[in-house]
Amino acid sequence: MKGWGSRNLQIHSLPAALSGNRLYEAILTPLLDLTREMVLVVKPEQRVIHDHRDHRLIIDAVISGDAQESAEAMQKHIARVGASMSDLEKVYRKKKGLLL
Ligand SMILES: [Zn+2]
Repeated sequence: MKGWGSRNLQIHSLPAALSGNRLYEAILTPLLDLTREMVLVVKPEQRVIHDHRDHRLIIDAVISGDAQESAEAMQKHIARVGASMSDLEKVYRKKKGLLL
């Protein structure tokens, strides 16, 4: 991985790697690949899609081994990023000529 996608998306693979949950990794990898492609096609003006402080909370919770806290931190993160991802997908689909 190089460029924008490398640093900004790599952090999202870390919880899966730390958890040792191979199913989670298998599901996450193509989603991150698609996200990277959408960002590269859309080239959003706003380089920060969400508040990166979420990541520290997630990583700390996973490292501490607290499954409940990890799940809550991830759920909050997904809820926050959902709207941005939806907007990104709409522009991506439009640029690629895909159905909305
Ligand atoms: Zn994130």
